[in-house]
Amino acid sequence: MANHATVRLGSYTIPLIGIDPAATREQCDRCHDRFHFQSVQLNPAGNQWLCEKCMKQGPMENLLDGLSQHAKFLTKAELKTELSARGIDVDSFLKTSHAIIAKHKKQKRKSDKPGSL
Ligand SMILES: [Zn+2]
Repeated sequence: MANHATVRLGSYTIPLIGIDPAATREQCDRCHDRFHFQSVQLNPAGNQWLCEKCMKQGPMENLLDGLSQHAKFLTKAELKTELSARGIDVDSFLKTSHAIIAKHKKQKRKSDKPGSL
């Protein structure tokens, strides 16, 4: 590990003698690890600085990441409106989920009953 900072220029690594390596470290907005500033890049959405590894994450991870960040700022009612706009009926979705869980619990109770075969 070099004890001075470096910059990459094409295929060359230029030493910056007398400059602390910490000076060229940038934090990744997703994994919060620190990397050389030249390997941390602005994501396509332009709202996060990401390391190479986080940048390679699939679109689904990016979407989920964006959603969970977004959801922090939404009230329950706003979230419901957002989902409805995307064609998701929250109420019926919840009702269906509850029905499935209730049915499962009922079946479990039946099978747990002693003496029943
Ligand atoms: Zn990262």
